[in-house]
Amino acid sequence: MKIVDISLDRLRLELDPPLHAAWDPVPRGHFDATIVRVHTDEGVTGIGSGDTMDGFDAVRHLFVGQDPLDIVRHVRAIETANFHGGRFWPLEAALWDVVGKVAELPVATLFGGASRSLPAYASTAELKSPQERVEVAWQVREAGFRAMKIRIDRDRTEDGVAAVAAVRDALGPEFAIMVDLNQSWRMAGDTADATDLVATRRLVRRLSELDVFWVEEPLPYADSAGFRRLRADNPGVRIAAGEMQHSMTELLSCLDDDVLDVYQPDVVLAVGMHRARTLAELAQHKHRAFTPHSWTNGIGLLANLHVAAGVGGGPFFEYPFDPPGWTPERRDFMLADPVRVNAAGEIEVPARPGLGVELDEDAVRRFRVG
Ligand SMILES: [Mg+2]
Repeated sequence: MKIVDISLDRLRLELDPPLHAAWDPVPRGHFDATIVRVHTDEGVTGIGSGDTMDGFDAVRHLFVGQDPLDIVRHVRAIETANFHGGRFWPLEAALWDVVGKVAELPVATLFGGASRSLPAYASTAELKSPQERVEVAWQVREAGFRAMKIRIDRDRTEDGVAAVAAVRDALGPEFAIMVDLNQSWRMAGDTADATDLVATRRLVRRLSELDVFWVEEPLPYADSAGFRRLRADNPGVRIAAGEMQHSMTELLSCLDDDVLDVYQPDVVLAVGMHRARTLAELAQHKHRAFTPHSWTNGIGLLANLHVAAGVGGGPFFEYPFDPPGWTPERRDFMLADPVRVNAAGEIEVPARPGLGVELDEDAVRRFRVG
């Protein structure tokens, strides 16, 4: 079997009204998605998406003509290309989609088949008043979710703690609340300082008192000692990070030094599916959790889901959802049907071979910009 071409469709959905993502200093007036298709000489086509694939034209020739099933070879080749500036992990997702289709099995089965569904958490985006955040929490709970992640802005921590306290009060002790401080990495051009370690320690302690399930990215990635300090300070709350940690070496040294409770590398942004599985297996051997970031689009979400379900990750899986600003329809605008959770708040691995992606080709044509 041979790869005969790898094509990219660049899509853009205008967002009106815009999304005010807490981690982005600029409101988002559009949402971009690049779809990767691996075309083979046997008529099987693999689909992936996630990162932008900017610069891929210069390295396409490293893959065309190769056997798509030689996954480890391709992972190593993607890593050599990434060193020079790209993050071409959506290609690996498309290759796994080919492998699954050839095997006539869901990719999660090839990754170990540990679970067929995972409890989802509604991963919110916007900073809202306590009352508005409670309204969204009720909507989310009524849709079946048993967990929600709330953003706290470094410049408005009192407002953030008030929102968490209000949701805890309104929904009670059974509803799991995660908090994301988004301090480990930055959008381009965001040069503001992270909160200092003392302020972060005080904040995490208060969140622990509100029975927060995990606190995510409380510090810059470089501050391993600070992460360990937070864990030692707060035995009642988990510390999570790693969504955009691009080097396996760094992730493995986090494991060696026991820096985190929860490891979150996104398989279409950070280290790819094959490497994430290795990390997940090692984390689980050490009794630490693996549950990947999935904040891209429905295709990227599915790639992460197959890895997480395959290796038995969890206990919750990220489902980007913050109505009305961020909905499954916006997030998955290129899919025939948006990825949904079931009435129990779980996200099920599609039973179809491969990643189970079904594109809406009309939408792909309509929203294509390149
Ligand atoms: Mg995050």
